[in-house]
Amino acid sequence: MPWYDGQKAFRAVRARRVVRCHYCERVLEPKTSKGFLAETRDHVVPACLGGTVTVKCCWLDNQLKGDLTPERWAAFMAAYPGWWKSFRTNREVTLALRGLG
Ligand SMILES: [Zn+2]
Repeated sequence: MPWYDGQKAFRAVRARRVVRCHYCERVLEPKTSKGFLAETRDHVVPACLGGTVTVKCCWLDNQLKGDLTPERWAAFMAAYPGWWKSFRTNREVTLALRGLG
């Protein structure tokens, strides 16, 4: 056993790190988690619109945001604080945004 196991230390630091969702700011679970809070990467501007910048966010927000532009998504988040408790699909979000006009 070496006096300093760099890889083990690295893993310990990673295990302790707290990463929060860029959108809902809840603490993310590991990528391997099957939960709504599993860590994913989201294109701020949808990849289909040429976006290349990504942020870390929860699985659920990634699903909800879908291909919405940052402006539409921001409008949705502002209109529905705590959206993650009541929305489950991008379709529901799209319908809610339609209601906002
Ligand atoms: Zn989130």
